[in-house]
Amino acid sequence: MKKIYGNKQLLATLAGMRESGRTAHSLIFYGEKGSGRKTMADYYTAQLLCEEPVNGAPCGKCAACRNVSSLSHPDVIYVPTEGKREGYSVGIARSVIKDSIVKPNNHTGRKVYIFRDCSNMDPRTQNILLKLIEEPPDHAYFIFTAESKYEFLPTIISRCVCFGVSPCTEEEAEQSLLESGFDSREVAAAVECFHGNIGRCTDYIVDPEIRRRVDLTKRLADSIIEKDEYGLNLALFSLGSSRNEIREVLSMTDKLVRDCAVLSRSAGAEIIGCYREGAKRLSGMVTAYQAARLHDRIDKAWGAMEANVNPPLVLAALSAEMIEIVR
Ligand SMILES: [Zn+2]
Repeated sequence: MKKIYGNKQLLATLAGMRESGRTAHSLIFYGEKGSGRKTMADYYTAQLLCEEPVNGAPCGKCAACRNVSSLSHPDVIYVPTEGKREGYSVGIARSVIKDSIVKPNNHTGRKVYIFRDCSNMDPRTQNILLKLIEEPPDHAYFIFTAESKYEFLPTIISRCVCFGVSPCTEEEAEQSLLESGFDSREVAAAVECFHGNIGRCTDYIVDPEIRRRVDLTKRLADSIIEKDEYGLNLALFSLGSSRNEIREVLSMTDKLVRDCAVLSRSAGAEIIGCYREGAKRLSGMVTAYQAARLHDRIDKAWGAMEANVNPPLVLAALSAEMIEIVR
């Protein structure tokens, strides 16, 4: 069973539900990417199915716990996504409704449906699921994970118990990564970029692509600081047209701009971005108003991308606007 770091209050609440027998049938675990919302969904699932929970927590040893942890429990259904956008279709929702009537065959009499990463879930799918989560069969549980609970329709939110999963402290992240066997220098570099977000720190260590994106974000910041429009253009163009990559680099740049705004008020402020040194230098040269405008431009660029404007066009405009703001 994967150990959970931080989130003590949430763990206590879940354990309390299991102990009192008042387990929620429909839940949303939300939090930023890498914060552990899927791990939390698996944990709650183990809690529901564990043969001998200890003070409401899964024992981690019984067959049910082991099967949940290896993603092979017959009564845990990871609802599949479909199509290019990897969404949950209306057809899939209908098949879940049909399947949920069938009783499970395990000691707890429960079965769990997990809908992972519900970003942009089709409203029609949500409307079909609404009735099910409103009056679920006694044995059925539904867990949704997403970056924000507002990915869902208000009618769904109001029928689910919603829990935010928070990143840990940097110390907890460090401890977790060291326990996973990573090298201490790699761990320090990862925590420097992604702080208490264990999932993102792990990505940083194991995935060269993530390190490249961090480096690119740093290059963008350096170009803005040096008011180097040519360098900024080069960095932005090397992003290519992968929306995922652009989204991630823009999001990291936006966090850096946010850090720059808080550092200008207090030099020791806690930061959330991947480049403290850059944020510090930028905070020495822009006003809070300029930082707000930078944030606004990044936000608009992302909006244009979402509206299917050609990525190179959006990035060229963004580059010109950012340099104009800091000039
Ligand atoms: Zn167990």
